[in-house]
Amino acid sequence: NEKFDYLIVGAGLFGAVFAHEAALKGKKVKVIEKRDHIAGNIYTKEVAGIQVHQYGAHIFHTSDRAIWNYVNQFAEFNRYTNTPVANYHGEMYNLPFNMNTFNKLWGVRTPQEAAQKIQEQRDAAKISGQPRNLEEQAITLIGTDIYEKLIKGYTEKQWGQKATELPAFIIRRLPVRYTYDNNYFNDTYQGIPIGGYTQIVAKMLDHPNIDVETNMDFFARKAEYLADYPKVVFTGMIDQFFDYQLGELAYRSLRFETETLPVDNYQGNAVINYTDAETPFTRIIEHKHFEFGKGDDNQTVITKEYPVDWKRGDEPYYPVNNQTNNNLYKQYAKLGAKQDQIIFGGRLGQYRYYDMHQVIHAALVTVKAEFESGK
Ligand code: FAD
Repeated sequence: NEKFDYLIVGAGLFGAVFAHEAALKGKKVKVIEKRDHIAGNIYTKEVAGIQVHQYGAHIFHTSDRAIWNYVNQFAEFNRYTNTPVANYHGEMYNLPFNMNTFNKLWGVRTPQEAAQKIQEQRDAAKISGQPRNLEEQAITLIGTDIYEKLIKGYTEKQWGQKATELPAFIIRRLPVRYTYDNNYFNDTYQGIPIGGYTQIVAKMLDHPNIDVETNMDFFARKAEYLADYPKVVFTGMIDQFFDYQLGELAYRSLRFETETLPVDNYQGNAVINYTDAETPFTRIIEHKHFEFGKGDDNQTVITKEYPVDWKRGDEPYYPVNNQTNNNLYKQYAKLGAKQDQIIFGGRLGQYRYYDMHQVIHAALVTVKAEFESGK
């Protein structure tokens, strides 16, 4: 039997970065993945000549030059800029909230006119003192029109709760821009890998010191794995690792409905958010627009994204980082810290809503700590 230094549970971005760096240090690494493919939630697959994001739209963005250089070793990125559009009962608005949005809503033309309009709406709402819920918080920040048309329905669908029952902290800040700029992110670097995301993880894992096994759930033979491997990097759910002994952490799940349609261009944009309460999905992704219309003529692939209440067995796409869950996570992290054999990493292992650049950063920090301590 080959001797491995590390078992990595999960072939997502965190596991892949760790595996890659450990292999470069001469360590032997075994990666197991319960899905039938690598790359976790950044997995993309070619359909009709288009890279389809199987687990929702993924746009890479960062202001950290080191992370941008790091990821560019594994793929060339195009110049895609995220400019989502909102559809509210057929009215189309640019996002994030900017002068194009304000002009369409109110006919205002200057930043001064827009700011005055927002101030009037805030004043008219007469919310005094600390906002007690998400609705009050949103209106305090941006006024009633934008709240009603672009925030309320979308947020209620996403969280499965009324805005008046959701905590205010979810939207401490709202990106508001008094310029005619539809670029969603403020980061210096942004793009989509030409040829998709899966190749990034595939290249990270392509090393003679790394052995990958898909369709293998850690929990199918947890005891043997812990006995056989001196070190385990675990990127699954930390509460599941501890058999939910302190209680369940909360997650939100999603259902993706993907279809290929016999048209060239279905919606004219990669991402359209449906911000009314009646439409059951939150957004439609048209994948070819991530690659500037590449792909087969007269065909396009779209994905509708439906929010779903999470229960055991469902994919836990989003941690629900409210006070209760964060406190519970801290208790689990304490249990985790007592186990020298295990490193908990990634979105599920650290119960944190990490974007891709943050997960790469976190993995590199973990690698550094691991190898500097001379183990
Ligand atoms: P994951 O990708 O979840 O990888 C963990 C892996 O572990 C999974 O493959 C899982 O199957 C496996 N696993 C779990 N338990 C076990 C087990 N018991 N045994 C074996 N394997 C197991 N980030 C951005 O930067 N930009 C975006 O636009 C963006 N959009 C997103 C949209 C959606 C809908 C979602 C859900 C996420 C988005 N993200 C985005 C975040 C991005 O997906 C994550 O940052 C990244 O995928 C996290 O990598 P990870 O390795 O921590 O987790």
